[in-house]
Amino acid sequence: MLLVDEVESHSVASKLQLFDPGVDLRTMIGVDVRKAKQLLEHGFLVAIPTETVYGLAANAFDEAAVLKIFQAKNRPSFDPLIVHVRDREQVDEVASFVPPEAEVLMSKFWPGPLTLVLPKKSQVPDIVTSGLNTVGVRMPAHPLALELLRSLEFPLAAPSANPFGYVSPTTAQHVADQLGDKIPYILDGGPCAVGVESTIIGFEEGQCVLYRAGGVPVESIEGVIGELGIAQRKMVPVAPGMIESHYAPRKLLIVGDLVALLREHANKRCAVIAFNKTYDAWKCETLSLAGDLNEAARNLFAVMRAFDVSDAE
Ligand code: AMP
Ligand code: MG
Repeated sequence: MLLVDEVESHSVASKLQLFDPGVDLRTMIGVDVRKAKQLLEHGFLVAIPTETVYGLAANAFDEAAVLKIFQAKNRPSFDPLIVHVRDREQVDEVASFVPPEAEVLMSKFWPGPLTLVLPKKSQVPDIVTSGLNTVGVRMPAHPLALELLRSLEFPLAAPSANPFGYVSPTTAQHVADQLGDKIPYILDGGPCAVGVESTIIGFEEGQCVLYRAGGVPVESIEGVIGELGIAQRKMVPVAPGMIESHYAPRKLLIVGDLVALLREHANKRCAVIAFNKTYDAWKCETLSLAGDLNEAARNLFAVMRAFDVSDAE
């Protein structure tokens, strides 16, 4: 078992190790917020539940700890991390300016699946933001994540807890399946209630722009602050949703008219992910028989994972 006392005795000498070399390298899954806190305080990674997907968290102010996130995920350094805060006040520790529209969005949608990209303060290490002068900030709604954040004196940098490019994890077991040999502790908060990533909003030349669609529908945001602008694509970084392949299973995934696709691939073992109907196929999972988008979002990544490891062609 990985004891925090043992971690303490070795951590100074092994700042760049993902695991403490002096202790057992088994990943623990549990609900011990105190243990998560102590590991994070000693510069180790902890996978945390949020309402969107599981995050891979480190002290946002500790450059060496944040580096471990990139190592564990095999994440390219050009892809910035989202900083998770416990409340509106903590935003001021990482952002140098909060536009009025951002204030409105925070009061309306936080805690919740909305990330705001704001001008960054210099005390946020460049590794967190991939050298950008902006920082993505979000207050998550999951009770365990909030309990952990409130127990810490620093915000948490946390991207999704999956290998770069793959489907995001929505259960603790998903994290263990893929990062289990790379991180000491997974805080288990049950299946994610939203199940897809946060919506990301930026502010360019006084205008609010959408960088990534996600848990908060664009219509809800536009209902509060009016029409969103189009992001200038030359901007670095390109959000993962704009990269040619992202959130991708290993197997070929085709999106389209299911009746036509099933006819075209009639001789193959096709695993079908349908929205609100069932189809006669080798396997078929319906995301929400009631046609509820939230229910469908909650199920999407788990179904993609299950089919990815099945015998489907
Ligand atoms: P993940 O949590 O894995 O979905 O990744 C975080 C994503 O947030 C990044 O890939 C970026 O698309 C976005 N992001 C974070 N910080 C910024 C920023 N400063 N500017 C633009 N996008 C950002
Ligand atoms: Mg991600």
